[in-house]
Amino acid sequence: TSRALEVRGLSVTFTTRRGPVPAVVDVDLDVARGELVALLGESGSGKSAAARAIMGLSDRNATVTADTLKLGDTDLRTLSEQRHRKLRGTRMSLVFQDALSALNPVLSIGDQLGELFREHRDLSRKAARAAAVDLLGQVGIPAPARRISDYPHQFSGGMRQRILIAMAIALRPELIIADEPTTALDVTVQAQILELLDTLRRDLDMAVLLITHDLGVVSEVADRVMVMYAGRVVEAGSADDLLSRPAHPYTEALLRSVPRADRREGRLHAISGSPPSPANQPAGCPFHPRCEYVVDDCRTTRPPLLASTVNAARFAACHRSEEVGHVAVAG
Ligand code: SF4
Ligand code: MG
Repeated sequence: TSRALEVRGLSVTFTTRRGPVPAVVDVDLDVARGELVALLGESGSGKSAAARAIMGLSDRNATVTADTLKLGDTDLRTLSEQRHRKLRGTRMSLVFQDALSALNPVLSIGDQLGELFREHRDLSRKAARAAAVDLLGQVGIPAPARRISDYPHQFSGGMRQRILIAMAIALRPELIIADEPTTALDVTVQAQILELLDTLRRDLDMAVLLITHDLGVVSEVADRVMVMYAGRVVEAGSADDLLSRPAHPYTEALLRSVPRADRREGRLHAISGSPPSPANQPAGCPFHPRCEYVVDDCRTTRPPLLASTVNAARFAACHRSEEVGHVAVAG
């Protein structure tokens, strides 16, 4: 497998009136072609800030630094704004949560897709339209030839999300970053959209970085998972392994908070407390105020992200990771 995205030591710091606020701290991340990696975290964990930094779409008040930030062989750190813009849509693209606001309401779907092909592939109007019809069929829009002149508001939420995905894959990017792509959709449609992403990355050999707060989404499609908390990766590993044997108390608590159909009482085990504000992080382990495993050391010493002694592909940032996950959390 070839590496589509390589990130080492990514940090994003916001300049605010109250001083610098670290939103992302020292994140390492790889996604190979054909691979789907989930970046899992609550809102404010830094996952979206990391995604925007990779796309070159950080807010004006953000300072982005990285030791490595590469799309294929292209160093994204040294690109001009203009070249970065050119890469977006062609070699990497973003799928947002809100398809309605991401699509142009006054252009038909055919015109929006056709414009991409005419501009970047130099196709004639007719050929661009034919390519757009093909693409809509590929993302599961029924009777695409008949729908091609329709406007975004004439489609359902799920169909609009498919159209957004069509636009994202139109120019065959190496990398897609999908930021909460199914959050606005109901559960059935959500599953269909995830299945579509899953199929496309295999068929087109694309790397997909899926940003989500939803463990259900992760277990559905991810090959690997990186769990973020307070701007840092606190656990990483293969999805199967991480979800069945969490090595960080935060992941374990997230797993316990997932509602299960087979659980009689239907009571959720929510994590007590809330994540720290990036401006005001606790000393030591950032999770310690909410952690059931907390010991004195946790309040003073931040645990580094270390590979597991039994599995080099598993990483956790916890002083007690060896003791976590031995209690069956699912069931
Ligand atoms: Fe909990 Fe301590 Fe591990 Fe942090 S280092 S997750 S506080 S046990
Ligand atoms: Mg977000």
